[in-house]
Amino acid sequence: MQEKGTISIHTENIFPIIKKFLYSDNEIFLRELVSNAVDATQKIKRLASLGQYNGELGKLQVEVALDAENKTITISDNGLGMTADEIKKYINQIAFSGATEFMEKFKEAKDANEIIGRFGLGFYSAFMVADTVEINTLSYQDGAEPAHWTCDGSTTFEITTGTRTTRGTDIILHVNAESEEFLNKQRLQDILDKYAKFLPVPIKFGTNEQQEEDGQDEEGKPKYKTVETDNIINETNPIWTKSPNELKDEDYLAFYKELYPFSEDPLFWIHLNVDYPFNLTGVLYFPKLKNDYEFQRNKIKLYSRQVFITDEVKDIVPEFLMLLHGVIDSPDIPLNVSRSFLQADSNVKKINSYITKKVADKLAELFKNDRKAYEDKWNDIGLFVKYGFLSDDKFYDKAKDFVLLKNTAKETFTLNEYKEKVEAEQTDKDGQLVYIYTNDPAKQDAFIQSANRKGYDVLLMDSPIDTHFVSHLEQKLDKTSLKRVDADVADKLIKKEDAPAHILTDEQSASVKTIFDSAINKPAFKVELESLSPDELPVTVTMDEFMRRMKDMAAMGGGM
Ligand code: ADP
Ligand code: MG
Repeated sequence: MQEKGTISIHTENIFPIIKKFLYSDNEIFLRELVSNAVDATQKIKRLASLGQYNGELGKLQVEVALDAENKTITISDNGLGMTADEIKKYINQIAFSGATEFMEKFKEAKDANEIIGRFGLGFYSAFMVADTVEINTLSYQDGAEPAHWTCDGSTTFEITTGTRTTRGTDIILHVNAESEEFLNKQRLQDILDKYAKFLPVPIKFGTNEQQEEDGQDEEGKPKYKTVETDNIINETNPIWTKSPNELKDEDYLAFYKELYPFSEDPLFWIHLNVDYPFNLTGVLYFPKLKNDYEFQRNKIKLYSRQVFITDEVKDIVPEFLMLLHGVIDSPDIPLNVSRSFLQADSNVKKINSYITKKVADKLAELFKNDRKAYEDKWNDIGLFVKYGFLSDDKFYDKAKDFVLLKNTAKETFTLNEYKEKVEAEQTDKDGQLVYIYTNDPAKQDAFIQSANRKGYDVLLMDSPIDTHFVSHLEQKLDKTSLKRVDADVADKLIKKEDAPAHILTDEQSASVKTIFDSAINKPAFKVELESLSPDELPVTVTMDEFMRRMKDMAAMGGGM
């Protein structure tokens, strides 16, 4: 058998376009070819289960082999193989996705959606790194003849009788001069780790290794023997494919370590598992946050049927949850579309709100079941919760019950609890609640103490997100204003009736005040005595807020 023909495409030569288009990401050729090989093994399994293939299935496996000397990379599988006619149809007719047809045909089959491969360019991505590509294949069909296809990157191909004697396919890439980086074993290992680590069929990347043998050869050098090593690089059943009730905490922690070997243990996690109205599985972890949280973004990995796609999950995961870690796997996220299309996609929107809801529910549950443990985690999760509270209305609706406020005495309150606590003392004449906060407890210490002495509570709002949090609270809370503690704010509040009495008599106070006033001798400063006990600051010297600003302005202007 021999046949020559022309690949039917509308563009004169699509390869330069493919190369140019995908150049920056040319390592994905391996993802595509390995995915196709995995698909082929899934398909034969499917055919066997439908009774359409009665042969021996054998141990289904994919193998990647590197031959640096001959500059080839071969991807082999023992999947369903192809006949010459199928090659013409599925390979030659570019943009005709065999997977689509297969899906059509086996629509009713339960796990037909295990078939990866709606990635678009697929097979042809091989030409990003290879001058010439060969296919050697034998179809599972009775009496099929082995077929061999070769194409040198032009639009012409050649089909001859092949040499394969067992069911399956070898794809042989003759790596081009610009892509010799891929002839490096470690480079290939890294790509496989990135994309293929959790594929559902064992992937062998393994070379025959040279091992030292006892004895010496004629020249007195150590002897070597070639040992077949079983280098399976992937884990075929990663935890997100399992049901949560089969899993223990250790399993989640071990998986986390596997994903992020250098990270501390996570605080807790959420197992995502939904199949209607979209299909999504995954595990999201709440990491211990370091101060450099900006640095830790993009830790969520997106998979589609266990093939790694990207760690750029913006638009799929709500912005405020971008600091989470973990994996999400969904065949329902369109992969080859523009950002704006992705944002508008209805599945993506649903996935986004599903994730938000799961995270909110998990936090609510933690809060309810073990308040103490939740509070202990607050330093690490406060940022997520506040960020979500600010940026996502649906999240806000739930988070308003478990967002925590801390005061300078390190006590913790929910919004409702805090309102109850201060309502009596911090409501002004018009019935407006006034919450006092500090954004710099060290610098504002004198004001804080002064406010506390007057019986007012001061909230701690000193993290970077708190500026926004404060103004958001002001918008959301009914008849409540938030004021930063300063010289004036405590003064303007109604003095609490039952504030503890001074330890100094009025007379003593007056004479101490006179001493301070005359020592300072500046009208801009105000001296107050309100010490309640011997170990507190007896005297507060403050500058009126207005005077302070004037002074700052004068200083900036160069003198007054
Ligand atoms: P897709 O995977 O999206 O269908 P590809 O371009 O990757 O697109 O592959 C085209 C078609 O070629 C596949 O659908 C399949 O029918 C066939 N094919 C590719 N690789 C193999 C393989 N290893 N074994 C059997 N068929 C294959
Ligand atoms: Mg494919």
